[in-house]
Order: sequence, then C-alpha cells, then structure tokens
Amino acid sequence: MVSGRVQGVGFRPTVYRHAVEAGLTGFVRNSPAGVEVEVQGIGPMIEVFLARLKTRCPRQARMDTLHVEHLPVRPDEQGFQIMPSERSGDLVVGFPPDLAACGDCVREVLDPSDRRHGYPFTNCTNCGPRFTIVSSLPYDRARTSMADFPLCERCHKEYTEPSDRRFDAQPNACPDCGPRLSILGADGQVLPVESPLLEAVRLLKEGRIGAVKGLGGYHLCCLARNDEAVQKLRERKGRREKPFAVMFADADEVTRYCEATPAEVLEMLDVAAPVVVVPRHAGTDLSDLVAPDTRDVGAFLPYTPLHHLLLKKVSPLVMTSGNVSEEPITHAEAELSRILGRIADFALVHNRPILRRCDDSVVRLVRGEKMVLRRSRGWVPAPISLSRGGPPVLAMGAELKNAFCLTRGAQAFLSQHIGDLTEHPSLAFYEEAIADLCGLLGVEPGVIAHDLHPAYESTRLAAARPADRRIAVQHHHAHIAACMAEHRLEGPVIGVAMDGSGLGDDGTIWGGEFLVADYRQCQRRGHLQTLRLPGGEGAIRHPVRMALGMLHAEFGAEADRIGSRWLPALQDADRQVLLRMLESGTQAPVCSSAGRWFDAVSALLGLCDTISYEGQAAVRLQAQAAAGASREYAFALDMQNDCILLSFRPMIRKMLEDLHASVPSADIARGFHETMAAGIAAVCARLAESGPTDKVVLSGGVFQNELLLLLVTDALSRRGLRAYSHREVPPNDGGIALGQAAVALATMEAG
Ligand code: ZN
Ligand code: ZN
Ligand code: FE
Repeated sequence: MVSGRVQGVGFRPTVYRHAVEAGLTGFVRNSPAGVEVEVQGIGPMIEVFLARLKTRCPRQARMDTLHVEHLPVRPDEQGFQIMPSERSGDLVVGFPPDLAACGDCVREVLDPSDRRHGYPFTNCTNCGPRFTIVSSLPYDRARTSMADFPLCERCHKEYTEPSDRRFDAQPNACPDCGPRLSILGADGQVLPVESPLLEAVRLLKEGRIGAVKGLGGYHLCCLARNDEAVQKLRERKGRREKPFAVMFADADEVTRYCEATPAEVLEMLDVAAPVVVVPRHAGTDLSDLVAPDTRDVGAFLPYTPLHHLLLKKVSPLVMTSGNVSEEPITHAEAELSRILGRIADFALVHNRPILRRCDDSVVRLVRGEKMVLRRSRGWVPAPISLSRGGPPVLAMGAELKNAFCLTRGAQAFLSQHIGDLTEHPSLAFYEEAIADLCGLLGVEPGVIAHDLHPAYESTRLAAARPADRRIAVQHHHAHIAACMAEHRLEGPVIGVAMDGSGLGDDGTIWGGEFLVADYRQCQRRGHLQTLRLPGGEGAIRHPVRMALGMLHAEFGAEADRIGSRWLPALQDADRQVLLRMLESGTQAPVCSSAGRWFDAVSALLGLCDTISYEGQAAVRLQAQAAAGASREYAFALDMQNDCILLSFRPMIRKMLEDLHASVPSADIARGFHETMAAGIAAVCARLAESGPTDKVVLSGGVFQNELLLLLVTDALSRRGLRAYSHREVPPNDGGIALGQAAVALATMEAG
C-alpha cells in the first residue's frame, strides 16, 4: 500500500511498467487510502521492483509511506493489470491540483513531426489541468469539462493502453478531437485569422494588451519590455504600483533578467509552477514599471502548452490576473466581457470551460526554504495533515487575502485564494467556493470557526450559515495556530504575530503580539508599543498620518514643529487637525500593530505618504533597508498590566537625530529592521525565562518581509531559542483559516 500524492499523477502506469519490466504478475489499483499494489514473482526481482518504485516515480508523485505485507502465493495468477478503482464513495484522495505541462508533452508540442505539434491542449497522465476542470468526483473524464470532447480513435487508444503515457489521462486530447483556440477583438467578435496564436503574438508585439484564457481564469498580458504597454495596463486595470508577475520563456531567460538561484529556478520548474519572487538584474530592458517599488519581481515559467507556444514567440510577458483591481480572477465567458474592451484589446480564448477559478500561487525562497505568499494553483486542493481529527470544520478565514479551510478527519483542505472580501464579486466567489469544496469533499460542516471581528464579511457569513457550533478565534491566535499546525507543534509555544491589524480580546486593534499559546488557549503576554491612528482606520491608507502619530507618541505637542519639518506631505491645517485628535484621543484609536510601525517609519523617511496597495510602505522600507549599513537603535522593555511592552521610544528620538545628521535613509531603514528584530528576540527571551518553552512561532503578514524574518530568526537562535516560520501556508491572512480550523478541532476535542 502506497500513500501520498499517488493518484491522478501517472503513478499506476509507472507501477505497471516497473512490474512488467521485472517480470512480475499482480495488479495495481487506486483505493481510498492510496494506491494498492500486489506483485508476485521471484524475490530478487521484487527487490528490483521496489527499488525502482522508490527511485523512479513520476516527478509530481510523492510517496509518503510504502507499507509492504507478505501474502500467500496465487498459483494461477497471470500477467499484471491495472484494476478499476475501488470506489467506496470516499475517493477524494485522488483529486490532484493542476499540474504544469511536462517535458514530454512540451517536446511533442514543439516537434513539427509530432501529431500534437502546436497543439495548446496537449497533456498526459503526468501533467495537465485537474482541479480547474473537474465538476464532481470521482475524477473521470465524464465529470470534467472535457466531457463534451469525445476522444478520437488514436486518443482513445492512448487512453486505454496501460503502457501509454496517456493511459487514463482524463483530459487527453489532440487537434482532431480536443478544444480549439480562437481570438476575439475588443468588441468580442471572433477575428477571422488563420492562426489565433500568431495573431495574438503580433498584437502583443505591437504593445497591445491581451486577455489569455488559462487554467483557472484569464490572465491579462502585455510585453514586459514595453513601458507604454505596462503603463496602459496599470491605468486600465486601476493598479498603480502593485507589482505585476512576469512570465519568462524559459530558465535561461529568467536568469538573464533575474538574480535567480538554481533553487529558485527549480521552484519555478516545479509541477506547481508558482510565481517565485526574485531580485531582478539592473540594466536589463525589462520595464521598471512591472514593480516600481522594489528590485524584486514575481517571475514564473510557462505552465501550459499554450504558454510555451506563446512565450516561444513573444517574451517576457507581464501576466496578471484578469480582473479589475482586487476582484477574484475572471473565468467565465460572461465575465470576459467585463475586461475585454475595457482592459484588454483582444482575447485569446478556447472552448474548454473553466469549472473552477484558481489564481497563480506565489512563493519566495528564504535561505533556500520555501515561504508561500499565496497558496493557490498547483497546491489546491492538496490537503495538509493535522495532528488531530474531529467533526468537519469550516474555517472562514479573515477579510483580506481570504482563503477558507475545510477539514475532514485529520486533513485540512485550504481553499484557493479568494481575495479581498470587501470587493463584491469576491464575496460571491467566496460563497460559491465554499459550497463547491463542501460538495467535492462530501462534507457538511457542523462546526464553523471564524474571526473575532464582527464586521468581517467572513464573520457575517459564519453567523448566517446553519451550524451546530460556532467558534470565534482571535486573529493572532489563529495566525500562530496556523504555523503550529504546519509544524505539528502541540504547544505551548511563544507566538510572535507581527501583522497588519486584527481585533484583540480587549476590543482594541492588535498586530504586534507576543502570545503564549497552544491550540486551545492563548494568552497575550506582550505587545509592541501602541500607536494612535489619527483620523481612525483611514490612517492605514495614509502612512504619513501614522508617522505623525509616532512623533506625537514621543514628543507630544512638539510633533507639530517636527512634523512641519519632516512630513511635508501633510498640509499645516491637516496636521493640526490630526494633532488635536491625537491630543484628545477622539477619532484616534490605539493599535499595537507592527505593520503600522513600518508605515510610520517609511513615511518619516519620506518613502511613502499614501499607499496604493496593502503593504506598500513596508515594501519600500524593506527595499531601502536592503541597501543600508548595519545599525541598531535602543529599545526598552516595560511592564504594563502583566504584559511586556516593547517600547521604541528611544529609537524614535535617535532616528530624528540621524535625520538631522543626514544619515542615509537606507541606514535608518536598516536600523529600524534590526531594532525591531532585536526587540522581538528580547521579549521572547524574557518569556522563555519564565515560561514553559523555547519554541518561538513566527507568523503574521509582516513576516513576508524576509529581511525581518531572517534578522529575527538569527537573533532568536543567538539567544538559544528555536524559531518556526511558515513553509506551506502564507504568513499573511491567506493562511489564517488553517489556524482557525486547528483551534476549532482542539476546542471540540476538549468538549
Ligand atoms: Zn505531459
Ligand atoms: Zn484525439
Ligand atoms: Fe493578519
């Protein structure tokens, strides 16, 4: 019995091949628990077979366990067979994510003598769409969007021949029987051209913007070397500065444009084919407008044959979700009309429906370790194993970067990236995706876990859904629990949640928290010095207001004079109004958020007054710090209501002195990062002295900042503490649903 990622990934044909080569008889079949193999033959050949099974697996398969058992000999057994699946109604195990086109298929598509030459929908057992084309389970062609494309004779032969690479490949297709491309003009009319692909290439080279139908939705694309095209895309999409992902033709091209390490290139080449964030080389012809705030760029490689064919002729291309602003990725034809003519000049489409939306995944490698920033296409719906099971739980996630989570037994299924629930279309997608995943997994969750914040759309929906039990989980407890669940830590741990904002137990806004937590309980044992948000939550969009709040925290009324010198973006009158709010505390709620500290310092250094996307001020501050010289400011640990308060008051004073002394802002930015890291480690050390553990769990959106993450990790290890950070799920709110689910399961277990 083999378990792991072994179904729908070409595992059975591989077993068949190895068994036949070793002269063994027996069978292989899918079962609810994995893949069952029975072989019979002479001992040494069975050894050879097992060795090959371990070493020569399909690249997208992953064997977690291989359990071997001896059975009585069956004298009359003949040949080796692939047997029909044991369909016990519980066969979701065999439902893999979408897989990037494999090397064999790409070679065929590019080979003029192959019958699939130039065919964009080529796939095999080892690759191709899965999650995005399945209507229901079990995973069979009849239950996919390929149902309307009857296999031609040759494809059928491949599909039924166990030794063929396309044996049982549900989306198998060829130019004779499969889906076709077409190209639409801005008015939605089909353009009468011989080759839709070549026409798309021509238009892209002209600097036009295209909508390209992909696996889980439409991409908007344009030539990444053309400033004008990229600018036009930004204007039409309403996305001023937020980085765009860029698709490169191949690994060679990536390394010409980016400082990608071999490990990073390998990650791009993985079957999940995520966007990998890497620094770009200076002085290339890549438009600076792809990511104006940072040297980093989200780079990825073609993952469908259509991408390969397109990028061979025109590259590199900006490839961004085909949506308006933060709406979910566009997938239905009806929705195409929302972007075609408004954002895109043309659309390269095909007649294979997309049944399920799924955005591209995004990762970054930090010292060679994967940090997932968005877990979506290529990983969803692969489950994450939890240390305990229980009744099915639906965990709703948070408000921004939403992903929800559904558990079945001890497996957690984190959904694809849903998006910001404040956007209306996202909300519809959210409800649809919840119903969809419940249907696929065949569960009706009676337990609902949700954020503490009553105004989140996810919380409202939790209240509106029927449930036996609803469990509210504090935002930062959920962050820490998500990271614990990934590492299967039972706790207690010291949880460090450095985040944007989330509602705290005391009704104030938290986001720079030191918690002592296990899954069931969570105690706030420390936090960052609080700042006031002058003018309320709008200050999140205006970091310059946070800077004034920070100055006021240290200098009081003097902040007026200092602000007039260092915060020129604030008009005198505005500054005075804001200061009155800070003085009186009206319309100036306090928060302990780490994100707001990054905002405040970024604005004080003149890097970002107003943001056009979440996290922008921090992105710019980190970009500055990367070039800065090492520097550390003083901080202080105070006690306040049994909580350690990490105060940066000494730092604010010193930073201003540095500004007056014309110290480069890169050095000050670096100093801020180092001080934040040293302060965090100092609080953890204090908690570890009196506490039950040396394990420190790092979570929250601020830890997407890899400079901070590395500084904190190193500072902790110097103090003899063990740091755990996210690998499989995002540190941002995209991973929070996993933590909510883990907390709910532990709570249910306790009764
Ligand atoms: Zn293939
Ligand atoms: Zn065919
Ligand atoms: Fe958060």
